[in-house]
Amino acid sequence: MDEPLFSVRMRASLMGKHFAGAERIVAASSLGEVTAELMSRVVNSADECADEAYCSVERINPDEVIFELLPDVSTFKVADWEAGRRLAQRLLVDAQVPEAVAANAIKTLADGAAPGGHVMRGAILMDVQSGRRLEADMARGIRVSRMDLATGARQEVHRQLASQGLDHYRVCEALVLAGKVVCAPGLVAELCWSDAPDYVTGYVSSPRHGYQRISDMKPAGDKLGGRVFFVDPAATELSMLIDFLEQQPVLFNALGQIYSPQVWTDDE
Ligand code: AMP
Repeated sequence: MDEPLFSVRMRASLMGKHFAGAERIVAASSLGEVTAELMSRVVNSADECADEAYCSVERINPDEVIFELLPDVSTFKVADWEAGRRLAQRLLVDAQVPEAVAANAIKTLADGAAPGGHVMRGAILMDVQSGRRLEADMARGIRVSRMDLATGARQEVHRQLASQGLDHYRVCEALVLAGKVVCAPGLVAELCWSDAPDYVTGYVSSPRHGYQRISDMKPAGDKLGGRVFFVDPAATELSMLIDFLEQQPVLFNALGQIYSPQVWTDDE
């Protein structure tokens, strides 16, 4: 019989504010190793360390797991974060997000999307036509959970990412999250940059164009970041979409293409 599978979720906060999180799906025999690794990420860091961290473990039904392919990965190198945001705007428009909605989403993340200008724990769900926010709780947002690389694919995906210098847990976990998001019903595009002050890379992803990394999306030291999921409410029931993002277990068994980084300038 196959080993039992567990959804592992790590949450960490610092002075009551979201600090870090991670989502994995692991076999019972790897639980100890994975939970220890996730916890040490947030309590051992040399510069900033969480003051509260939780790991929760929940058994999942293996019959409910669906298998998907990770999106293609492209990387754009930009001169600075302002150029990065201009590129993000362009990529969102290419993904069928209206210009004003894309601009508003970028501004919302830049200003701090949670009440009081803080960082959200999850993502904004945004109506792609009107720009209206659809998430019920503007501090929590939508938390994508229950996704990971399939055990049999882990080594090969890491090898492929390493061949382009991308084999860092941040890249891998963001790619897996974005991979689940682009599979979701009614999902048009995603915009993301991290709230970690030292991690300035972000991305725009969409079902058609895949996972498009942008080297700079914010100035170094900026503690604001977040995610926006652009959704077409005419194409799906919102409850179905949210249920898929938060509950549906998804394992990825292969990665598409990884393209070599390209330099992007405004006149392209
Ligand atoms: P990170 O890439 O981990 O720095 O996360 C950047 C931002 O994305 C966070 O501040 C949250 O707003 C959001 N976020 C992080 N993890 C998730 C998740 N599992 N589901 C939805 N949004 C998330």
